[in-house]
Amino acid sequence: ASGYTLMRDPRHNKGVAFTERERDAHYLRGLLPPIVLSQELQEKRIMHMLRQYKVPLQRYMAMMDLQERNERLFYKLLIDNVEELLPVVYTPTVGEACQKYGSIFRRPQGLYISLKEKGKILEVLKNWPERSVQVIVVTDGERILGLGDLGCQGMGIPVGKLSLYTALGGVRPSACLPITIDVGTNNEKLLNDEFYIGLRQRRATGQEYAELLHEFMSAVKQNYGEKVLIQFEDFANHNAFELLARYSSSHLVFNDDIQGTASVVLAGLLAALKLLGGTLADHRFLFLGAGEAGTGIAELIALEMSKQTGNPIEENRKKIWLVDSKGLIVDSRKHSLQHFKKPWAHEHEPVSKLVDAVKAIKPTVLIGTSGVGKQFTREVVEAMASINEKPLIMALSNPTSQAECTAEEAYTWSEGRAIFASGSPFDPFEYDGKVFVPGQANNAYIFPGFGLGVIMSGAIRVHDDMLLAASEALAAQVTGEHFKKGLIYPPFSDIRKISANIAAKVAAKAYELGLASHLPQPEDLVKYAENCMYSPVYRTYR
Ligand code: NAP
Ligand code: MN
Repeated sequence: ASGYTLMRDPRHNKGVAFTERERDAHYLRGLLPPIVLSQELQEKRIMHMLRQYKVPLQRYMAMMDLQERNERLFYKLLIDNVEELLPVVYTPTVGEACQKYGSIFRRPQGLYISLKEKGKILEVLKNWPERSVQVIVVTDGERILGLGDLGCQGMGIPVGKLSLYTALGGVRPSACLPITIDVGTNNEKLLNDEFYIGLRQRRATGQEYAELLHEFMSAVKQNYGEKVLIQFEDFANHNAFELLARYSSSHLVFNDDIQGTASVVLAGLLAALKLLGGTLADHRFLFLGAGEAGTGIAELIALEMSKQTGNPIEENRKKIWLVDSKGLIVDSRKHSLQHFKKPWAHEHEPVSKLVDAVKAIKPTVLIGTSGVGKQFTREVVEAMASINEKPLIMALSNPTSQAECTAEEAYTWSEGRAIFASGSPFDPFEYDGKVFVPGQANNAYIFPGFGLGVIMSGAIRVHDDMLLAASEALAAQVTGEHFKKGLIYPPFSDIRKISANIAAKVAAKAYELGLASHLPQPEDLVKYAENCMYSPVYRTYR
């Protein structure tokens, strides 16, 4: 290839880091300024430039430009500065990017499959230039973060999630395929926006929706085989549970909003037990919010209890209570509940307010997954603190504005006794001379390592036990030093090591269950995982 083509290919471009020798060998002389920089210096220069931008969306766009210009440099930045750049390429900034996607859109970064492509989805998949795809993240844009229906502009989510698969989990960029399924949008603002990039119609539902999804799932299997991981992302809960149930026995599928969230929260709980004492089954749980996150977490907790105690899962579910927009979920409501709530309808009289539910249920753990901010009021937190020596409070709703309470509120209202974690990051807080560091129950702890484990073992199905294995692996990374600060998650700076450990445990479980197809099983799975991981360091072209 000519030097010019090499420079234009983001997968191979090194910019001014092309060496003298490469410039001679590949017809690059004169196409670059005379200087030769190391990748480290390039990184330093771009980080410096990024920090000049005060508007988060500008940082996001600069990162997207870099990804399209020089892929290895993009990943080097992301890996080396993960704590700083995660909020740029993913939540919260990615949310704003999706909202404005029509205006900032430059180059399609993934595949768009709309109702127009019905009957031709296999052909569409064949248009994608990469043959050996290992992970697909797909959305239909109906519930983007906490921002609701963004239609086709949800593409930012699969793109962002897959860049984390590479940066945090070491999956090769060429093996990652972002897909947006466009069945319309019910977002009036977008329908009336002249720059909207999607189909200008209301959402298809029912059979029309199911048929398109079915064609998609079949085409993916036909084109890429059994071992491509399909991650469902940001579907509304009326489709999410059903899609997962329908395809989990025929495809390798994973829903991060349900299963990934469950796994990362369970990990935090398992770690917190070292601070709280007792086993999981000794605790009582109350959730505010009974959707994808809430019921997903609840189910995985009940499953882990079963593994630990041998008790049937139905019995363990009785230790877990959920409140939705209509109050405590109780048996008298059973006839009108969505099916995913039914297992949680326990015997109790109706309770409408959260604070009364806290007083009635007396939970040791309170988890917020409602998407509505400020629901853990002073009264609620004080009630938790009067029931428990160390109340465990998780305010998981995103973004920050939707958090059920802030770190400061949790620590202050519990007089420094709460163990607190949240979905969006909060700064450390000093109370009574002690510094508390809130944990962040970020799904990015789990899904990249989980995916790597699935891929490296050649697993053909996702099994719940693999989720439990991931939780246990993450919890095991929390050390005494972290606990001293009140942390129930390890720091993100260690994420590549954490992901390798999670991948190893997930793969080991896949082998144990007979779901792995890459045989023989490697002896040292952690080492094997580390060796599998993509490195962003430049290669030398001869
Ligand atoms: P979802 O499926 O739409 O569920 C939301 C649930 O909250 C529903 O059960 C809803 O009740 C309930 N709810 C809404 N308003 C309420 C109110 N005022 N009082 C009590 N309950 C209320 O959404 P999801 O996917 O579970 O996500 C929920 C939140 O969790 C989002 O903010 C998301 O960002 C966050 N989340 C965090 C993480 C993380 O921290 N790692 C991961 C995933 C999700 P009805 O069923 O009665 O409508
Ligand atoms: Mn999501």
